[in-house]
Amino acid sequence: MTAAPAIPEPESTASPLLREIFGFDAFRPGQEEIVDAVTRGENVLAIMPTGGGKSLCFQLPALQRAGITVVISPLIALMRDQVRALQAVGVTAGALTSGNTEEETEAVWQSIEAGELKLLYMAPERLASGSTLNMLHRINVSLIAVDEAHCVSQWGHDFRPDYLRIGELRQALDVPLAAFTATADSETREEIVRKLFDGQAPRSFLRGFDRPNIHLAFAAKDGPRRQILEFAAARKGQSGIVYCGTRAKTEDLARALRDAGHAACHYHGGMEAGERRDVETRFAREDGLIVVATVAFGMGIDKPDIRWVAHADLPKSIESYYQEIGRAGRDGAPAETLTLFGSDDIRLRRSQIDEGLAPPERRAADHGRLNALLGLAEALTCRRQTLLGYFEEEAAPCGNCDLCDTPVEVFDGTTAVRKALSAILRTNQTYGAGHLIDILYGNETDRVREKGHSDLSVFGCGKEYSKRQWQAVFRQMMGHDLVRPDPERHGALRMTEAALPVLKGEAQISLRKDTIKSAERRPAVKM
Ligand code: ADP
Ligand code: ZN
Repeated sequence: MTAAPAIPEPESTASPLLREIFGFDAFRPGQEEIVDAVTRGENVLAIMPTGGGKSLCFQLPALQRAGITVVISPLIALMRDQVRALQAVGVTAGALTSGNTEEETEAVWQSIEAGELKLLYMAPERLASGSTLNMLHRINVSLIAVDEAHCVSQWGHDFRPDYLRIGELRQALDVPLAAFTATADSETREEIVRKLFDGQAPRSFLRGFDRPNIHLAFAAKDGPRRQILEFAAARKGQSGIVYCGTRAKTEDLARALRDAGHAACHYHGGMEAGERRDVETRFAREDGLIVVATVAFGMGIDKPDIRWVAHADLPKSIESYYQEIGRAGRDGAPAETLTLFGSDDIRLRRSQIDEGLAPPERRAADHGRLNALLGLAEALTCRRQTLLGYFEEEAAPCGNCDLCDTPVEVFDGTTAVRKALSAILRTNQTYGAGHLIDILYGNETDRVREKGHSDLSVFGCGKEYSKRQWQAVFRQMMGHDLVRPDPERHGALRMTEAALPVLKGEAQISLRKDTIKSAERRPAVKM
């Protein structure tokens, strides 16, 4: 077998539209099921926390269905934002609101007449107008989406009388309706069902995002192959998935696992369809098979008793992480996860984002999502709280994660971080962590001599830490988004704005004691 090239896997497990149009790697908790149901044309009531990602749940189905989706929303500013964002990515969307200029309204009508419009946003008040209703009957409406559906409830604070017209519209047009709200109390829900769905129970989605049976754990890479082999050895005979960042690594690790006596095979997007199907079938039927895969493995895996999921490389985002670990323990029985991360992952992900073709705002959002994941990786308290907090869900410390099992100690790492930042600054932000660590540690390498860096005031100012400890400091600095690789210069670290207050002594940075300590204890192993 020839080794696959060490390129990152381009495939995503989710709908291609999710990546191409919306720029997301994975669904957020709950989104996929809702998107599927709405796309199939079921009546849906979805209760999602604010910020949970409701809009995708009707925007994506709108693109997957023929005809026009009418979106009713009470918030004009929000409608305009969504329309602008959709248009920016090439989706024909328009809004009919009182805030429109005449030209805007004219443009909306034209794209309706031309049969191009996919999403038509309007305020509920519009439904009082005869001409609007005529128009809605004339055009090919295939779905009604209702944002802030609790506005139909007379008992809430947000009652909007015109929301009562939506139920009639649904009946008149005889199309499916998807209602969204963040308000979960049962009276409001019942009222929504009565008024919008004429009492016919819609498919309802009201699920916390938590998967309490899944144990969460992260570890800094410290001989990652050994770490994965040890994790698998402790779970011999159980079905598991190991996710890797590259195709080559899947083949490599699968071989190592087989050598260690496991039933294991690899899976990636470079394999022939038939080969991939074979792995999928084996995994579904056999007990105790380990699949070592890229993210291409996932869509349509419907195995309830996957007992563990390990990440040999850092996932792309919190969303991808949640989706990938979420494949474990669907049967509700205890399942375990381990996610490894190292500076190499952070560098790779950052440069993938910077070198990608995405527009600047999307790149900034991708960096932000990566930061969130790094924040989770180096979390200081209950990991599940941090994870659910990212999805706007509150939770108590869970008792089922590595940080609840063994709380981490932190220390004030401001001095170390300031030394590292000074080294970056004094060398004009043009070097990577390796060379910077040589400077801090006072290593007279050829490069240090050649560049005259032994003359710098920071040279040798960091002898209190070993090279590995400095690596941990740099990794945590990336996690805090104090430094980022320079997209123009391979591997070079640049400071972000967040670094300035630390340099000036105006902000403190906590570092995890354990990563620094473990770096101290262990012999030098390649990260
Ligand atoms: P709300 O539920 O409050 O209407 P939005 O639809 O505005 O939430 O989404 C909240 C934020 O989550 C937005 O910034 C959106 O870009 C982001 N988001 C939604 N879905 C995803 C996803 N699958 N992956 C990453 N970010 C997402
Ligand atoms: Zn916990």
